Amino acid sequence: MTDIRVNDKTFEPYLTVEEINGQVQRLAAEINRDYKGKRPLFIPILNGSFMFASDLFKAISIDAEICFIKLASYKGTKSTGQVVTAIGLDIDIHNRHVIIVEDIVDTGKTLSEFLPQLNHQQPASLELAVLLHKPDATEYPTHIKYLGFSIPNKFVLGYGLDYDGLGRNIPEIYQLKEH
Ligand code: 5GP
Repeated sequence: MTDIRVNDKTFEPYLTVEEINGQVQRLAAEINRDYKGKRPLFIPILNGSFMFASDLFKAISIDAEICFIKLASYKGTKSTGQVVTAIGLDIDIHNRHVIIVEDIVDTGKTLSEFLPQLNHQQPASLELAVLLHKPDATEYPTHIKYLGFSIPNKFVLGYGLDYDGLGRNIPEIYQLKEH
């Protein structure tokens, strides 16, 4: 693998297809074990998580459902500040075992705003399956039960993650090259 150029930035190879797949298979095995007979509902958050969600879901061998959502954020009233809502969540999650699937958790802000809304609907359980986590960037800590990789606080792209709209189709994960 060699460096790649996307718009004005250079990225260097970081995680190979084999390394990514190894962690995805491990996470799927843990979920298969933990959720047997519970018919979990996977909720991947678009766009970034589509590739991770697809590979993870293919490795799920127990009965399970999936419903993709997109998050829309807008300014609420002064008292509520930023509001994040789910678009496309057309399944009732009350009493369901829910697994949120995210590509990357950076500051944790997105999830810290979104998870309370889901909890409000009283799922039977609510856990996170996250491919990449940047612990050094975390400002809003969230418990990630199923984590692929802890990574340094550097911008990454590939495997669903974009830079300026590009790079989502790259099968590996690249890291921004600092000069
Ligand atoms: P958070 O709310 O945790 O700060 O941000 C999460 C979102 O920021 C991710 O879902 C992703 O869209 C974006 N993000 C954070 N870090 C990166 C990164 O290194 N690369 C890319 N492509 N997106 C990132």
